[in-house]
Amino acid sequence: MSNDMIKIDYNGSIVYVKKNKDGLIICPICEEVLLSDVSDLYNHILAHARRYVDKRVKVKSREE
Ligand SMILES: [Zn+2]
Repeated sequence: MSNDMIKIDYNGSIVYVKKNKDGLIICPICEEVLLSDVSDLYNHILAHARRYVDKRVKVKSREE
């Protein structure tokens, strides 16, 4: 593991992330969004999870 990976423990959820040169956390899922602190990262990851659910529901409702 390269030394720029950072282990984050947020309420028992372990996430490995990278930081950019400005010290901002890079989202480990999309690798496009920069986050200033751990709670922002956690909310962003939750948003990813919700988006996947929304997508599945949308596809399902389109088929009906
Ligand atoms: Zn993301």
